[in-house]
Amino acid sequence: MTQLLREVPEVLLMGPGPSSVHPETYKAMSVSTLGHMDTQFIGIMDATRDMLKRLMGTQNTVTFPVSGTGSAGMETCFVNLIEPGDRVLILVNGVFGTRMTDVAGRLGAEVDTVEAEWGEPIDVTAVKRQLEAQSYKIVAVVHAETSTGVQNPVAEIGELVRATDALYLVDGVTSLGGVPVELDAWGVDAFYSGTQKCLSVPPGLAPASLSDRAVSVIENRATKVPNWYLDVSMLTKYWQGQDKKRSYHHTAPINMIYALHQGLALIEEEGFEAVFQRHRRVHERFVSGIEEMGLSMLVAKDYRLPDLNAITVPDGVDEAAVRAGLRNNHLIEIGAGLGPLAGKIWRVGLMGHTAREENVDRFLAALKEEIGA
Ligand code: PLP
Repeated sequence: MTQLLREVPEVLLMGPGPSSVHPETYKAMSVSTLGHMDTQFIGIMDATRDMLKRLMGTQNTVTFPVSGTGSAGMETCFVNLIEPGDRVLILVNGVFGTRMTDVAGRLGAEVDTVEAEWGEPIDVTAVKRQLEAQSYKIVAVVHAETSTGVQNPVAEIGELVRATDALYLVDGVTSLGGVPVELDAWGVDAFYSGTQKCLSVPPGLAPASLSDRAVSVIENRATKVPNWYLDVSMLTKYWQGQDKKRSYHHTAPINMIYALHQGLALIEEEGFEAVFQRHRRVHERFVSGIEEMGLSMLVAKDYRLPDLNAITVPDGVDEAAVRAGLRNNHLIEIGAGLGPLAGKIWRVGLMGHTAREENVDRFLAALKEEIGA
């Protein structure tokens, strides 16, 4: 039998995710698997939940990693909160806002959108106008739009949503661990992230959090949550509970939870502020290098995400050939543009363990070689 895994090289992951996994996190994944009802494991779950709450800036009791990738987090938030006919406003300026409209629409919601050009932030004034014209059960936005590298003004939008009766739902897949996230201060009621971006953990879990207000909406639904696996009222019986007494729902992905525990512990050891500053510092080094090469960034400075950098592909350059050259000649992965930006941008992630000066320098030297700059 061919041992394909022996042939896997160490690729520097500088795409839109997954990012490079910290060596300590790989080690954590090989710790002996405990049973999912083992009290020692429940202690690890509780500590993981407490670290998530600190990193998310929330006191929400219902905070836990959904078993599944970021999209499972998105499904969890929408499937638990929406009932057919609910009015939902989704702010769309990229792939993941668009995905939210699909998920909410499939659940029978009446979906309105406020849209912005891909590469531009959501216009807060346009949101204000829409909220004055119509009331909604949920207003949803992507904090860090990975398809473009835009950071949306979630705090300002939160202020507008708070003045209405709507619940505020935020996608933090590419923001958690890379930029500050303050759920309670921003008035966020439903939030989900993913492990494979700034947490430097492999893909597989979607850390999520629901406010008491969101939990009460779920408890008072007229209809049953139409998805058994993601039903929060059942999941919390496993993730919460008195004196480590928990009810089985599904077999937790134990070693992924070890990995998340380790990824969060590393962030706490370094310190939140130091981690955010490192992302910013590395991003600035990256932008200087790109501009020195005569290239330009897609997104205006004020809305640029530090952890996802979109470079405009110069005229006459074969963007796919450059990406292939980086992977084949330099063992560096970067991402392509999506949707209207396909063929027009490269997406370079500086997330978590990838966000280090030496990686920026290695990437800039390799890119120079590949485009012949
Ligand atoms: N939301 C955002 C902002 C993302 O970047 C992604 C993935 O890149 C997702 C949702 C979906 O996550 P996943 O691919 O882990 O299911």
